[in-house]
Amino acid sequence: MSPEPRSTLDALQCALCQANFDPAALHATCACGGVLLARYRLEEAARTLSRASIRDREASQWRYAEVLPGSEDPVTLGEGMTPLRPARFLARSLGLERLYVKDESIQPTGSFKARGMATAVTMARKLGAKRLALPSAGNAGSAAAAYGALAGLAVDLFLPVDTPAPFLLEARAYGAEVHLVAGDISHCGVRVREGVASEGWFDLSTFREPYRLEGKKTLGYEIAEQLGWELPEVIVYPTGGGTGLVGMWKAFEEIERLELVRGARRPRMIVVQAAGCAPLVRAHDSGASRAAAWDDPHTYAGGLRVPATLGDHLVLHAVRDSGGTAVAVSDAEIAGAQLEFARGEGVFACPEGGAALAGLRRVVASRGVDRGERIVLFNTGTGLKCPDIPGLRA
Ligand SMILES: *Cc1c(COP(=O)(O)O)cnc(C)c1O
Repeated sequence: MSPEPRSTLDALQCALCQANFDPAALHATCACGGVLLARYRLEEAARTLSRASIRDREASQWRYAEVLPGSEDPVTLGEGMTPLRPARFLARSLGLERLYVKDESIQPTGSFKARGMATAVTMARKLGAKRLALPSAGNAGSAAAAYGALAGLAVDLFLPVDTPAPFLLEARAYGAEVHLVAGDISHCGVRVREGVASEGWFDLSTFREPYRLEGKKTLGYEIAEQLGWELPEVIVYPTGGGTGLVGMWKAFEEIERLELVRGARRPRMIVVQAAGCAPLVRAHDSGASRAAAWDDPHTYAGGLRVPATLGDHLVLHAVRDSGGTAVAVSDAEIAGAQLEFARGEGVFACPEGGAALAGLRRVVASRGVDRGERIVLFNTGTGLKCPDIPGLRA
């Protein structure tokens, strides 16, 4: 018998000043403002985490227990291990040979936000948080509400007033307090930080605690495992705050150090944003290492209406380091791509998934990919919670 897999979480390290923090206490960001990144004892992890040992483990993200926080007692709804399916219709339509869709629409609460909330709520409960709060465009709120309910923790959500009704109804069904805020997600974030200061809430905002990133990073482990422990040449990711992309980049680094894949060639990371809110695309195009906040963000792809992110430098670094790129697509392109996804592949993609497809189309048009490359396209959630596709008659 091989020994039980155990979390090898070792420390938290600031991404800016490299200061270390003890993971036995709750932490937000570093005093210098930097994002905290979880570090593991990877040599110890490698003793039990191998291609062979993983094969027979449970079909959830917790199969990578050694490199996740709190895996001895997770708050879990079975998230992770979503299909990586060949997308034959879309491949033909784009002139590609090896296109895959990583379909997160079947996750608990209908989006990949489940991955990060499972790990974040696991650690918040373990370390004694009592009341959780976060700003959200909808999906992060749904997921926090569900995992909070499962963990027995109160959840306060701050959502833009124009958030589609299904998100609000779902969150209230789980028992969360839903607060509607005039403005976008950044205005919601201000309200959360007021409650953190005055009420002692624990802030689950993107990148403001270290563990949502850890759940999201399992996307990278899964893609590698599902491709037989090889990495694809290209990943196309609809980017708001960027946790999923930064998480995958972190996963690829860990996977190399764990020697789960051979060679050091990582995928080219392609960021897709909406033309009405594209701070990372603008920063990438101008060669900047940080992204200035976007004024007056607008797009119906709510998960992409993120005018500023604490992880901007981490996203931009991953894109540049990987030889990737960043593209912006219009809401009309997003709508067209959602219909193509639905009618060609039988996937009712969320608008953000539509954006990823529209972005890939642009990259193909500018010859940014070769037809034989393995390309992973993300559908990050279900279309059912925001079913009004512009131009589609009811
Ligand atoms: C939150 C969200 C995104 C953006 O995710 P990040 O990792 O924060 O960039 C994309 N798609 C959907 C459906 C989302 O809910």
